[in-house]
Amino acid sequence: MDFAYSDEQKALRESTIRFARGALNEQLAERDREQVFSRELWRECARIGIQGLPVPEAYGGTGLDALSCAVVLEALGYGCRDGGLVFSLSAHLLACVVPLWRHGSEAQKRRYLPGLCDGTLVGAHAITEPGSGSDSFSMRTRAERDGEGWRINGSKTFISNGPVADVAVIFAVTDADKGFHGGVTAFLVERETPGFVAGQKFEKMGLRTSPVGELVFDDLFLPAEAVLGEVGGGAAVFATAMDWERCLLVAGHVGTIERLLETSIAYARTRNQFGQAIGKFQAVAHKIADMKVQLEAARLLTYRAAWRLQNLRNASLDASMAKLMVSESLLRTALDAVHVHGGYGYMVEYEVERALRDAVGSTIYSGTSEMQRSIIARWLGL
Ligand SMILES: Cc1cc2nc3c(=O)[nH]c(=O)nc-3n(C[C@H](O)[C@H](O)[C@H](O)COP(=O)(O)OP(=O)(O)OC[C@H]3O[C@@H](n4cnc5c(N)ncnc54)[C@H](O)[C@@H]3O)c2cc1C
Repeated sequence: MDFAYSDEQKALRESTIRFARGALNEQLAERDREQVFSRELWRECARIGIQGLPVPEAYGGTGLDALSCAVVLEALGYGCRDGGLVFSLSAHLLACVVPLWRHGSEAQKRRYLPGLCDGTLVGAHAITEPGSGSDSFSMRTRAERDGEGWRINGSKTFISNGPVADVAVIFAVTDADKGFHGGVTAFLVERETPGFVAGQKFEKMGLRTSPVGELVFDDLFLPAEAVLGEVGGGAAVFATAMDWERCLLVAGHVGTIERLLETSIAYARTRNQFGQAIGKFQAVAHKIADMKVQLEAARLLTYRAAWRLQNLRNASLDASMAKLMVSESLLRTALDAVHVHGGYGYMVEYEVERALRDAVGSTIYSGTSEMQRSIIARWLGL
């Protein structure tokens, strides 16, 4: 067992942090307030290969293994204070690009991956519907055979990148009798397709620079070539997306936890009350000590999940454990960071309140904490 970074991983970590600090943190409070998604920053990130980290170079990607992807995403979450941008990039990469790379036909990969990797295209993943979230398998969107293709009607909601996405992986029932396993199919849809409508854009509590909204399919016709994977194989496509998302989206959170820890230490050393630095009060110091323990535990669980994603046939249990533990650690750390900063922590200028608002979503998207616990319990035979 080896816990050291390789030279390549060390270099990737350092260069990503340098890039993120230098290029991605400008006018953040304004962008957050106005909910601005920046295509310019999106293209900047593509210049260092974020949007195609694990994708083979032949399709325009960076060709990294999953553990090295985790190292880069962690560095991004550490250096980039724009949690919404990191989230949009991760959703695009892990729930659109990865399933396309793993399940797409050669023609689909050639058609979409270069643009998705080079920052020209934005991707989305759409399964949630107004009536089905945690119980996503009970979706109502239907795809019916129409000649050589499919006619799709229904709608999706809370879709990250939905308002700006050029390509979306969407799911629809193709055989209601078979249920989710065998009865749901994944499709690739392009923005300009008639019948594909970006519906309402939502205003949200955190991650405000990451646009989220509805997608509506109004008699949307898709040719047979738009099926991603097999007809009836939507469950496999969804499983790939969730395994990668749950293992690797949290890598960015690990970086954010480290940044919040450092911010809290710096503040606790310099803020004086009752004639001494507040870090000398045990009540404050213990909060910060807990942050450090959560950081190191979160990092180990994430790295191991990423390693298993690369090397084992099934990493779903690891994915759920990492998702649950790291997202809850992020939320706790962000709340403690606000408390360590006292009244200043509650003010926008100090930026920890934004981290807290961003952190709340992490325990909801990609399956709520309750659902992760249920998945883990199922793996334990309960
Ligand atoms: C910021 C953000 C981004 C998102 N991005 C996307 C996206 O890109 N694509 C996409 O498809 N979806 C996306 N979602 C949707 C997300 O996956 C769902 O919100 C989530 O799965 C929960 O579904 P729901 O909102 O319908 O809540 P519900 O399923 O209605 O749950 C409400 C509450 O009931 C609990 N609950 C439900 N069922 C059970 C159960 N069996 N046992 C115990 N507790 C239960 C839940 O844990 C929760 O606390 C996003 C959501 C957010 C907040």
